[in-house]
Amino acid sequence: MRRFTGSFTQQEAIAPDAIDAAVAVLKSGRLHRYNLNPGETGEVAALEAEYRDWQGSSYCLAVTSGGQAIQIALRACGLRPGDAVLTNAFTLAPVPGAIQAVGGRAVLVEIDQNLRLDLDHLEQKISSSRARFLLLSHMRGHQCDMERLMRICDAAQVTVIEDCAHTMGARWNGTRSGNFGKVACFSTQTYKHMNSGEGGFLTTNDAELAARATILSGSYMLYARHGAGPEEDDFAQARLDMPNCSARMDALRAAILRPQLARLDDNILRWNARYQAVEAGLRGHNRIVPIDLPEAEYHAGSSIQFRLPDLDADQCRAVLAAAAARGVELKWFGGAEPVGFTSSHHSWRYVSPQNLPRTDAVMATLFDMRLPLSFSLQDCALIAELIREAVSEAAP
Ligand SMILES: *Cc1c(COP(=O)(O)O)cnc(C)c1O
Repeated sequence: MRRFTGSFTQQEAIAPDAIDAAVAVLKSGRLHRYNLNPGETGEVAALEAEYRDWQGSSYCLAVTSGGQAIQIALRACGLRPGDAVLTNAFTLAPVPGAIQAVGGRAVLVEIDQNLRLDLDHLEQKISSSRARFLLLSHMRGHQCDMERLMRICDAAQVTVIEDCAHTMGARWNGTRSGNFGKVACFSTQTYKHMNSGEGGFLTTNDAELAARATILSGSYMLYARHGAGPEEDDFAQARLDMPNCSARMDALRAAILRPQLARLDDNILRWNARYQAVEAGLRGHNRIVPIDLPEAEYHAGSSIQFRLPDLDADQCRAVLAAAAARGVELKWFGGAEPVGFTSSHHSWRYVSPQNLPRTDAVMATLFDMRLPLSFSLQDCALIAELIREAVSEAAP
């Protein structure tokens, strides 16, 4: 049997210029973001300014993780304990986890068969829950109709917080993902689009929100040492009102992210070439239904999803096994027990149980695969062939 021998969790090495920058930070001994010499900007502040400019937002705050960026964003938007927060029924655990951590109550919204938020269901849920917040997860890079979403939320005065963990560098009708809502959250954790092990950003155009977020991140009274923060006056209220959640990014991570940011747009193109190679290979198989990418979306293809809607659960399990035997690591979302990570709302017992039949039906035959840049285009073509073989074997 033909087998793929690469690793689905192997990212590219950190480039020499980023390693040099990290070594310089280590030699200085000054790893804390505020541990600066007089007149020095520091790696974290420089990264914040560069990310703000790249994203095209007014403000940027670097933090310890994407999950912390979300928690800080929710607090900075004025969430109070017990408040309802609408979010996608299909997302990853940091999303409902962040809502829970800040005392919110997750209200789950159905997704459609292309993994995008179901906007009709959103409208219903806004009126039935009276929620004032939507934490929109662009799960696996699939963006819903952002103009319609913003019309719905603006009309209902629902604050939109965008979770862009999978859309860093993606666009909707030419606008970068993250520039639609009130605030956007990004992750630089190893499996996202930049790799500092752990890390994240929050971006916004709202000066007071940025000030609250900065104090929440643990800036003490050193907020003037930020690279892309608001003016001193904007901190007048926030500086004493906001609790310190100690979620600062450090200089070492910032040092390795700055060279990666310079390559990010190129890397999105490289991901998309890999995505297209796998997708082209899967198309035409009578059982495999790829996810539809809308015309308006500039996707960032760091992973790929497909559905096998004709298959039952046993056949789906057989596909997983047949792919694994060929060295292809697929994730299936229909299993009763979570494997590797949780994305099923049934696994989040801290969220009150909710009835989401359409999401459940989609997830029952949904498969997912990482596409690290360490794969070549030939690897991707081979992987697609092996998936076709696995599906044909499991469901002849
Ligand atoms: C990874 C991820 C996050 C945040 O992740 P951290 O590991 O906390 O940086 C948020 N949302 C989604 C959908 C993610 O996949």
